[in-house]
Amino acid sequence: MRILIVGAGIAGPTLAYWLHRFGNEPVLVEVSPHLREGGYLVDFWGAGFEVAHRMGLTPRLRDEGYRIREVREVSRTGRRIAHFNPLPVLDRIGDRYVSIRRSDLAKAIFESSEGEVETIFGDTVQALQDTGDRVEVSFGSGAQRTFDLVIGADGLHSRVRALRFGPERDVERDLGIAVSVFDVPGYAPRDELVAVTHTEVGTQALRVALRDGATMFCFMFRQEGALPAGREGQESLLRRRLGRMGWEVPSILAQMPQARTFYLDRASQILIPSWSRGRIALVGDAAAAPSLLAGQGTALAMVEAYTLATAIDAAPGNHRMAFETWERGLKPLVRAKQDAAVGMASAFAPRNRAQLLLRDGVVGLMGIPGVANAVMGRSLRDPIRLPPLPSG
Ligand SMILES: Cc1cc2nc3c(=O)[nH]c(=O)nc-3n(C[C@H](O)[C@H](O)[C@H](O)COP(=O)(O)OP(=O)(O)OC[C@H]3O[C@@H](n4cnc5c(N)ncnc54)[C@H](O)[C@@H]3O)c2cc1C
Repeated sequence: MRILIVGAGIAGPTLAYWLHRFGNEPVLVEVSPHLREGGYLVDFWGAGFEVAHRMGLTPRLRDEGYRIREVREVSRTGRRIAHFNPLPVLDRIGDRYVSIRRSDLAKAIFESSEGEVETIFGDTVQALQDTGDRVEVSFGSGAQRTFDLVIGADGLHSRVRALRFGPERDVERDLGIAVSVFDVPGYAPRDELVAVTHTEVGTQALRVALRDGATMFCFMFRQEGALPAGREGQESLLRRRLGRMGWEVPSILAQMPQARTFYLDRASQILIPSWSRGRIALVGDAAAAPSLLAGQGTALAMVEAYTLATAIDAAPGNHRMAFETWERGLKPLVRAKQDAAVGMASAFAPRNRAQLLLRDGVVGLMGIPGVANAVMGRSLRDPIRLPPLPSG
């Protein structure tokens, strides 16, 4: 089948890899002129890691990933108030765990089928017409092409979803938190392999030193409603919202204009009644964004992409059945992860002083052997069972 995949983030190239491997002819279209850079350090394990493993990516993920040896909470003055080493707990799930930059993971996935899958950068879909036996696609560039299926893997603000499934406001669950991530070369201090966090009422700041001499900063803060569109407006929002924070925040914000990459978005979820309509479907954040608070959006996007490809492969010529089996198998689990994430908001951006003290107390207790196991161990059990690779 000729299948158009819109979006070359995480889900899109994973789907392209597997569809190609199962003998289909996928085409990727990405609106950006090149693979997008930047973003956070993803904690990557469970079924998502298994998908990457089946793609032969494990050695590369180990090379490029990080094994954070201390999570450290500091006060306004930079004094360590709580800390723990996550490695003993993580080691219990074996060596299939890594923290990796989103953009490094995206690149590794993309390169696994580069040259084998037709990829169009700097273009997007303008109109989609599902005629029942094919989809006529008009591109922004003016090109017109026909596909058997179209899959929107174009993220939280999916255009495919807007064109075929309705407006974002009808399917978005806004968690009232915004996330900003940027990386600055040459920042000091570094604290190698330590995730340093500082939390105040309504905000959290985090820094992690990267291998190439840069430092990645992540801010989460309570924010209702729309965000400014351009980088200048976004930076001034950050200055307004975070400028009074303690610790190193004023100096981080002073260096923000030198950031190599910059990301700001709402930590929203997408809850849509059906992931497909006719010959058009959605995958990854476009279909079911769980938000950063769920902690597993990237792994879920890969699992959704892999299982979609296996479902299409298992129902030749019957896309309706493929889409239905796929969605029925995954949706309850994805929905449960989305619902669980809603309760995590107070851990990242406590609403008041009581929530802040409770949060710091829990981080402190994680230093006691056994407590980290009890708190983290449960969330590290991934209930997703991947379908086996089709034989042959
Ligand atoms: C640069 C970047 C940085 C990110 N950083 C963070 C972060 O720090 N924290 C966090 O929680 N989440 C972040 N995310 C989102 C995170 O990657 C996803 O939640 C998750 O990995 C699911 O991946 P996805 O492939 O569904 O969506 P995404 O990874 O968002 O990928 C979607 C892709 O579709 C492309 N696209 C968008 N619109 C169109 C269009 N109209 N036509 C064609 N292509 C289109 C985008 O450019 C992007 O490459 C980031 C996403 C990007 C693109």
